[in-house]
Amino acid sequence: MEQPYGYRRHELVEPDWRRLPGWRDASAEDWASAQWQRAHCIKNIKQLRGVYGDLLDESFYADLERDQSERATMSILVPPQMVNTMVPADVPTTEAMYADPVRRYMLPAFSERDPVWPSHPRSSRDSLHEAEMWAVEGLTHRYPTKVLAELLPTCPQYCGHCTRMDLVGNSTPQVDKHKFVLKPVDRLDAMVDYLRRTPGVRDVVVSGGDVANMPWARLEAFIERLLGIDTVRDIRLATKALMGLPQHWLQDEVRTGMERLATTARERGVSIAIHTHINSVQSVTPLVAQAARAMLDTGIRDVRNQGVLLRGVNATQKDLLDLCFALQDDASILPYYFYMCDMIPGSEHWRVAVHEAQALQHAIMGYLPGFATPRIVCDVPYVGKRWVHQVEHYDRVRGVSYWTKNYRTSVEHDDDALSRLYEYYDPIAGLPAEGQRWWRAEAGDATYDAATAAASRDAAAALAGT
Ligand code: SF4
Repeated sequence: MEQPYGYRRHELVEPDWRRLPGWRDASAEDWASAQWQRAHCIKNIKQLRGVYGDLLDESFYADLERDQSERATMSILVPPQMVNTMVPADVPTTEAMYADPVRRYMLPAFSERDPVWPSHPRSSRDSLHEAEMWAVEGLTHRYPTKVLAELLPTCPQYCGHCTRMDLVGNSTPQVDKHKFVLKPVDRLDAMVDYLRRTPGVRDVVVSGGDVANMPWARLEAFIERLLGIDTVRDIRLATKALMGLPQHWLQDEVRTGMERLATTARERGVSIAIHTHINSVQSVTPLVAQAARAMLDTGIRDVRNQGVLLRGVNATQKDLLDLCFALQDDASILPYYFYMCDMIPGSEHWRVAVHEAQALQHAIMGYLPGFATPRIVCDVPYVGKRWVHQVEHYDRVRGVSYWTKNYRTSVEHDDDALSRLYEYYDPIAGLPAEGQRWWRAEAGDATYDAATAAASRDAAAALAGT
């Protein structure tokens, strides 16, 4: 029977890195080494050219370079493992690189940003107000029973759409990054002290950045301290590197250390899980599956995926289901969430509207096992995660959705917090003409012209059709 989505199991494949001129001589031993991967990360266009050489047009490199100087909120950092998953089955061409979903969010191009509204007028750095909700530096206490511990401001890879663009990574010409003030040791001490004093918190997301950038001994010591707090029952380690640099998680030191933590956690009845961030099916390779299984073999509770819903990357029924089935069938990674891309500057061309996210949630129901069917969620500023169908009111013309919540964040002590409506904004290029006019008036944009607006809509439509 023909179905809107046709399930087929695909064998995972590690693309051959030797098709890329710069890594033609890299051995299997090099490739398996976390140190080699870190040493050969792509950090700038010159290094990218060193890998691809003449395979790609100069105009492509120039497009990326212009994006870095005029739009990017994140500097470039892509490990070879991730580069190798771009155009995985062929020798890359310029056209294929432009069309590639992993390249689209890891190596953003200026020509892909929305030309009229590169940023939504209501976008902001730290759009989720995490720093405002720090109980102590780096420890966001937003939900009643859980906290987010930002241990460090770096990752082994930088995603163009990073929601923590305010703090994570190197400064770019557009964004002067904020810096932690406390010394790392004092910051971690303050976090542990707060958790000891706050027994209502039972769940700690240990994040960054990416915990894979913390020297293992220091990470293990911090988690051991968490395991020593009776009231902490869930510990989740956030690491996109499980996919971007699986070699890190396959190192002996990391595996044996994780085994020690898992043993202690089991003895104390605490759950430790890894949360990773995979957005595209082609990122799920045998090495990623091997790293996930190695972690499960240490005795931790689970490995789960929290992807980000991005136009041009995965915002179709097929893209989402292909990814989820690869995770579930062959990588032992549980499809868990897809977050709508947050309202940070420069993200308009990636973001989808709430009604599109609702349609996608509808489209993926019923194919995967219920426990592995991811929820698509909108992280509403000052609210937190809401399932996309939980919207209270929705003005489709102006693209404004209104949400409520059932708890107070740490910055609200008034009664209104539970009855107030909180807003989230759809990307403007996809709104009807009346809505776009309203936003132009609102933004006081005297430079608007119809031709550029049409280009903006066309760019959004072209990405939507991919
Ligand atoms: S891995 Fe996470 S924290 Fe790091 S750049 Fe990507 S989205 Fe941001």
